[in-house]
Amino acid sequence: MKDEAIHYRVEPIDPHGHRFQVTLTIREPDPAGQRMALPAWIPGSYMIREFARHILAIAAHDERGSVHLDKIDKDTWRAAPAHGALQVSYTVYAWDLSVRAAHLDATHGFINFTSLALCVLGQQLRPCTVELVPPPESVATGWKVATSLPRAGARAHGFGRYRAPDYDALIDHPVEMGHFALGRFEAAGATHEVAVTGRTDVDMKRLTRDLARICETQARLFEPRSGQAPFSRYVFLTMAVGDGYGGLEHRDSTALLCQRNDLPHAGLQTPSDGYKTFLGLASHEYFHAWHVKRIKPEAFVPYDLWHETHTRLLWIFEGFTSYYDDLMLVRSGVITPQDYLTLLGRTISLVLRGPGRLRQSLADSSFDAWTKYYRQDENSPNSIVSYYAKGALVALALDLTLRARTQGQRSLDDVMRLMWTRYGRSFYNADGAAAMQQQGLAEEAFEPLVREASGLDLKRELRAWVEGTADLPLARLLEPFGIDLGLTPADNSPSLGTRLASSGGELRISTALTDGAAHRAGLSAGDVLVAVDGLKVASEATLKTLLARRKAGDRIRVHAFRRDELMDFEVRLQAAPATEAKLAVRTNDQASAHAAHQAAGRLRKGWLGA
Ligand code: ZN
Repeated sequence: MKDEAIHYRVEPIDPHGHRFQVTLTIREPDPAGQRMALPAWIPGSYMIREFARHILAIAAHDERGSVHLDKIDKDTWRAAPAHGALQVSYTVYAWDLSVRAAHLDATHGFINFTSLALCVLGQQLRPCTVELVPPPESVATGWKVATSLPRAGARAHGFGRYRAPDYDALIDHPVEMGHFALGRFEAAGATHEVAVTGRTDVDMKRLTRDLARICETQARLFEPRSGQAPFSRYVFLTMAVGDGYGGLEHRDSTALLCQRNDLPHAGLQTPSDGYKTFLGLASHEYFHAWHVKRIKPEAFVPYDLWHETHTRLLWIFEGFTSYYDDLMLVRSGVITPQDYLTLLGRTISLVLRGPGRLRQSLADSSFDAWTKYYRQDENSPNSIVSYYAKGALVALALDLTLRARTQGQRSLDDVMRLMWTRYGRSFYNADGAAAMQQQGLAEEAFEPLVREASGLDLKRELRAWVEGTADLPLARLLEPFGIDLGLTPADNSPSLGTRLASSGGELRISTALTDGAAHRAGLSAGDVLVAVDGLKVASEATLKTLLARRKAGDRIRVHAFRRDELMDFEVRLQAAPATEAKLAVRTNDQASAHAAHQAAGRLRKGWLGA
């Protein structure tokens, strides 16, 4: 196949120096001078990252020789009018081991094209080809390629030519190159691959078996009749490292970063906590293939890759996905209902531990993701609420409400399916290009959609849960499902009301929680704790031991350094707040309640599918 009018040649020329060489050929450049820009952010990670700062050297030429380039803002270059095709060559520094950017060394290369492919402005809708070139043989041999990018001449898992129908598609298909363990399975009418980079002893058979069940369950949720996924191929690009965690969703793939110990090993019986975490992450990103990569907020249609793009709806896209990620594990049978209730309890605890939940609403948290959630500091626990965690709890509250009020006839699943058929199913054409009439979920469209899907008017509840800051009435909502929600203090010792971090033999307050004992006594984030009642504290454990011998209401003397000044404080200890959530299925202890018990069992079965 020949090159398209926009063609990128990508070569890992210097793995030791973490540099890719990219040559962009534009067959029909703008006669007035072609502009090209690298995105300032990558969809799915809502923070301005200014990827163009990693472009090290850039030059252009045409058939007559060198063409002058002007840099006109932090992301954009403009070439002088060219004769014939314009060729732009540049190197990109790639040393970010995350799922958001690009990474290259002698062990592997990972590419998001938001980091590597200059967008040819004005020609974003044109198809493009990418030629992936292997690294120098002196550095690495035998590398393979894993990507959901359609092949255009390259052999399966080989270097060579790939193709994207437009720029939006190109940046939605990351590439992994190197030596990786490769697994493959069929599910939901699609071929799935798992490529695991990094030293690993992963039990691929177990992993693909469990993932297949999760994938089938998700496809069935959106397409109950056909069970067909909206793609024919899907790739889990997985980097296994000693310590790390993250995922980024794409339309036909996901990039995952996980702890090597979280992957299953041969002989693993019941899933470890780490493996449940990994499956939850994979489930989360896979769910996004429907929800946020095809069903999208209107604000993201199309993406403006150069500016913050605000929406008050991230709680629907990230929160609902966080709700369904673990729910899909229990419905597919890879974890037990009791496992699921434990995970749900952790999410409830997480939200309750942050005083910021009483200050910021979910809608505000969504809107300010760019400057608050993604740029957290010492005061974040006091000032923000996670649209992931609280969003998941609102999804839970909504699901439980719909199920209880319709005796299990309607649920959040119906809302998801309505969003899917209305916005998601035909978002892309069969070739992956943008459909002519792409439509996203408008800012005010959700509540009417719930009414349409369920017949229930939940305007009042949704407003309180999404625009308000009061705690959600989860105990009451779980009641008809025969589940008790218990809240207890995290431990029996009285509380200092802080988050702590220890390093280098120092115990530092990372956050003084609003209205906690430390805050009231004048202690602050950044203070280094030295002694409590004249006894040295250098670790969280020694502090805990000291506090365990005191009770709420006691006054203790705390010495601490603020910067280089030793200060002392009288702290009146408080009772530890009841933030530990435990969910338990109620046992049938009264014969008179037999009918209610059975009804609860039915509702629970409809919800958890077990
Ligand atoms: Zn997500």
